[in-house]
Amino acid sequence: TISMAVIDKEGHIAVGTSTNGATYKIPGRVGDGPIAGSSSYADDEVGACGATGDGDIMMRFLPCYQVVESMRLGMEPTLAAQDAIKRIARKFPDFVGAVFAINKNGLHAGACHGWTFQYSVRSPEMEDVEVFTVFP
Ligand code: ASP
Repeated sequence: TISMAVIDKEGHIAVGTSTNGATYKIPGRVGDGPIAGSSSYADDEVGACGATGDGDIMMRFLPCYQVVESMRLGMEPTLAAQDAIKRIARKFPDFVGAVFAINKNGLHAGACHGWTFQYSVRSPEMEDVEVFTVFP
């Protein structure tokens, strides 16, 4: 799964998630990728979120919508991401997944459950892409 959020110089925010789907998926499975709020969500006024992991579980929680709405209420990206993951883990302790969050100011974070998650960031003031590792 590749999920990418972009903030342009005018502050417009976009996010998209592409995936080949779950391993051994049944023919016709839609998954969480195309479900708005599940694998991605963005709002220019707030920020964006992307997700990867067990989509059949994650889609029940719309974790990316949750993250963006938590940030809208003033939560920092780190807390918003952790909170969305915790809400899923409370009901499905064995689920594997992660989200990244970025607010409109470029502050970013990730949270994960059941695996170690990495995401990368590039901004105009950076020389190169930087990879961030998040532990469960
Ligand atoms: N979320 C994807 C799915 O369940 C899989 C993934 O993120 O690797 O289709």
